[in-house]
Amino acid sequence: DDKTATDELKPAADAPAQGKPGKLAHEISRRRTFAIIAHPDAGKTTLTEKLLLFGGAIQLAGQVKAKKDKRNTRSDWMAIERSRGISVVTSVMTFEYQDTVFNLLDTPGHEDFSDHTYRTLTAVDSAIMVIDAARGIESRTLKLFEICRLRDIPIITFINKLDREAQEPLELLDEIEKTLALDTAPMVWPIGKGRRFRGTYDLATPRIRYIDQDPAGQPVSGPDDPIIDTLMEPEEVGPWREEVSLVQDACGSFDLKAFREGTLTPVYFGSALRNFGVRDLLDALVSYAPPPRNQKAATRTVEAAEDRMTGIIFKIQANMDPNHRDRMAFMRVCSGRLTRGMKVKLVRTGKTMALSAPQFFFAQDRSLAEEAYAGDVVGVPNRGVLRIGDALTEGEDITFLGIPSFAPEILRRIHLNDAIRAKKLKDALREMAEEGVVQLFNPVDGSQPVVGVIGALQLDVLGDRLTEEYGLPIAFEAAPCDTVRWFSSDDAAALKKFLERYRSTIAQDLDGDYVYLAPSIYNLSSTQERHPEIKFANVKSVN
Ligand code: GDP
Repeated sequence: DDKTATDELKPAADAPAQGKPGKLAHEISRRRTFAIIAHPDAGKTTLTEKLLLFGGAIQLAGQVKAKKDKRNTRSDWMAIERSRGISVVTSVMTFEYQDTVFNLLDTPGHEDFSDHTYRTLTAVDSAIMVIDAARGIESRTLKLFEICRLRDIPIITFINKLDREAQEPLELLDEIEKTLALDTAPMVWPIGKGRRFRGTYDLATPRIRYIDQDPAGQPVSGPDDPIIDTLMEPEEVGPWREEVSLVQDACGSFDLKAFREGTLTPVYFGSALRNFGVRDLLDALVSYAPPPRNQKAATRTVEAAEDRMTGIIFKIQANMDPNHRDRMAFMRVCSGRLTRGMKVKLVRTGKTMALSAPQFFFAQDRSLAEEAYAGDVVGVPNRGVLRIGDALTEGEDITFLGIPSFAPEILRRIHLNDAIRAKKLKDALREMAEEGVVQLFNPVDGSQPVVGVIGALQLDVLGDRLTEEYGLPIAFEAAPCDTVRWFSSDDAAALKKFLERYRSTIAQDLDGDYVYLAPSIYNLSSTQERHPEIKFANVKSVN
């Protein structure tokens, strides 16, 4: 990192990729950017470890957890992370497998849902949904799935823990179809479960893969092959064959188009702990998951394979290194090729900055990214210059759409015990709003700001950081509102009138956009009824 100062003076490196026709397109087409969505305990961490193992990113299983622990001791500024043993931050892991570059974005594992979770899911092209075979679909799975559905993100399903007591596979498929309104296409069918779990039968090309054995498996003639009789109790074989013919008929063959449109999910069964079925998932990502998508901007659609680099900041993380006040901005490269040292325009301010030290993150390390392509996620160290939603380009003024803010339901005022430090509090809140830790609403009448969050744990993080990092003794107080709504109107005169009339319940967010601070849900609906000329929104796209 310390090379930064000199590197900034160097001209951008030559771009050999652009010299070779097709190289850029090839590099982009072999990228897969995805997340794992799961209810806590379903096996997300275990699966992540095993995926990285295949990618050669780590040598030993157990290191993701180990890394978690290390991060906890390192970031001791954040007592909350330590005390609850959780990772409050979203990170990215880049790895390669079979000539494919994967960017795995980690969704935070804590009890509460947060703005980070939403934003992370806006930066992926597909997701693996992990379901515990005994528990089926759980509340968090459902919630995360709903966010994926907002953008029709293609989902690959992994039914995990088949080596333990499990529900009937058919019931699990039925639950997915009914609860999520998502068609299923089983790709493999389990042979036994619990202690008698022997492996899976591949429904497309008849083949059996055995647990704890060579993953290539053994070709068979079909579900009637006598080998299958040797794997199960005699009374189980008949029903198993009936089931297989049923799922083959009912689900038909996997439909790539429906998967890409987010209406059908291929389903795999396995055991992350026993490293079984994990390779199926990587192969599915390689074969079926979409390469980097095109990204909508206000004026046009930016295509991933365009020559010119564009990127969007979707996450900011502070205190990655407790010795520095740097903030890491996570950027998804939306198009073209990034080279280290290149000069880019920060569209919001019009200023030029050099990408001197863009970084890739691996399981345990990070390294300078000499080059990156559309779909890749890189960290850009900066000192509070970058904000969520920012676009970085080679000069074009682009405003990307689609990183949403959701109206927070948890709203508070902050009481400062030491009034002399009001200015410091103001700055701290602004910084943390820019990082996306909280949403900040400044009332137009000049009264005290209101902070809002999606998940209650975000409040704890905010309180903790204000105390530990900024040395501000604060307490939370009730806010004078129950919920907020962004509002606008095509009728400038009507808007002006509304602003005057409701002055005491109107605030501005970080971008200066107006929100209505509704004292109650009832008040909100009656105000909406009284003012049909004003449009109220509970979601706002950043910028
Ligand atoms: P996360 O909370 O979703 O990250 O879940 P973890 O990966 O930490 O797993 C939760 C627990 O389930 C741990 O004790 C794992 O060892 C266990 N586990 C994960 N996958 C499997 C599996 O395939 N079979 C069995 N028997 N246990 C598993």
